This record gives sequence, C-alpha cells and structure tokens, in this order.
Amino acid sequence: MSAEKLRGVLEFYQDLGFTSLYRRRANEAASIEPPGETAPAPATTAMIELPGLAPAGDSLQKIREDIGDCKRCRLHEGRHTIVFGSGNESAKLVFVGEGPGADEDAQGLPFVGRAGQLLTQMIEGTAKREGIPLERKDVYICNVVKCRPPENRTPEPDEMEICGQFLFRQLSVLQPRAICALGATAARALLGRKEGVTRLRGNWYKWRDIPLMVTYHPSYLLRPYNQNAKRESWDDLKKVLHFVYD
Ligand code: URA
Repeated sequence: MSAEKLRGVLEFYQDLGFTSLYRRRANEAASIEPPGETAPAPATTAMIELPGLAPAGDSLQKIREDIGDCKRCRLHEGRHTIVFGSGNESAKLVFVGEGPGADEDAQGLPFVGRAGQLLTQMIEGTAKREGIPLERKDVYICNVVKCRPPENRTPEPDEMEICGQFLFRQLSVLQPRAICALGATAARALLGRKEGVTRLRGNWYKWRDIPLMVTYHPSYLLRPYNQNAKRESWDDLKKVLHFVYD
C-alpha cells in the first residue's frame, strides 16, 4: 500500500475517533496452541502511534504544490483558477467557506465577491466595535473545495472528501487558535455534522483539538429576509474574536 493510501486509511480511522492502533506481535499468532494444549500466554500488544496526517515538514507551499494543476475531481472541468486560500500564514483565526464563486474563480482569491465584502465588513466592523485591532489581512481565509462548482452548486460529498484532505493539511499547518466555519458545507466538512447552521451556530466544537465555531455563510446573510441571522452571526463573530484575541 502506498504511503498516500495508508495516510487516507489512517485519516479515516482518526475521523472515527481512533488515535492509536494496536498490533499483535508477529510471533504471537504462531504461539497460539491448538485446542487442548497449554493455554497461550496472555496477548501482548505493540502500540503504533498513528502518523501525523500531514507529511513531515508540511507547509502551505508544499500543499499548494501537491494540489498542482488538480484534476482529481470533476470540479476542475469548469474552473479558471484554483483558489487555495489567502491571508496571514501565522493567523490565530481561520475562516473556512464552501467554495469559490465566479469572482473568486476569476481572481484566484477567496471571498472577494459580494459575500467576501460582507465577510470583510463583519470581521473588521466587529473587531473595531469590540476594540480589537484586527483587519482581514490578519486572518487566513480558505474554502472546503478549491475549484468553483458549476452554477455555484453545493459541492458533492466526493468532491468535499477529495479536496478536504488539502483543507485538513492547511489547518494542520496553520494551527490557529480557532476556526470559524462559514455555513453548512464547512460545518459538515470539518465536524461531519449534517444539521443546519441554525442548529449548530453559536456553540463551540472542535476540529482535532482546535476550537471551532459555526456561523452563517455571508451569502445567506446577503438575502434581505435573513436580517435576524445577521445579528446572530455578529454575535458569533464577537465570541470568536474575544476568544482568540483577548
Ligand atoms: N463563497 C465561499 O464559500 N467562498 C468564497 O471564497 C466565496 C464565496
């Protein structure tokens, strides 16, 4: 089995909550006596720590190189640019969205369209009101999938899984103090939870020991009938900013 494939299998077990694997010693099977003979000695086990999910010495640059001119899923067919992520590589806070839209696909940067402008306002406006010196350039922003889904549809589970490995590596390298998942797709990718944002938002969860808050996706907040959600989103962000920067 290739190292890449083995990492995938181990990642799967880690997502299920396993942090260690146990292996019988090689000579143990041979020591089991046939029925009626003396009982075998109690089983001894050797513990193998799961290797880190990211390759040793991983970096954002290496992840981007590994993505390459990606054709691992069907999303590559309609994209113009791979949108890897942007911001401060030492950021204490990372925002994770769903996937690039038309503006992001054209510019190669996450959250630069209308939803992005709202996100910037939310980050900078909330920080300012709360007396926290923070600008958008101080955080890191990326998405679950790096290529624009056609018609901005929600990414399919296989697309999220394939691209998710790169998101997980990004987060593992960044090691922020907190993650803010924007919308249901990010919550699903990072927490494996299928509930809607209304149910998940405002509470702390964890992505591999890193505190994670779910809140509404800015695109949702752009709809005029969602003004209550806007207030809730501002509250969520306030919590996140104080947690990270106080
Ligand atoms: N919506 C997202 O989820 N991500 C972007 O980068 C832009 C819009």
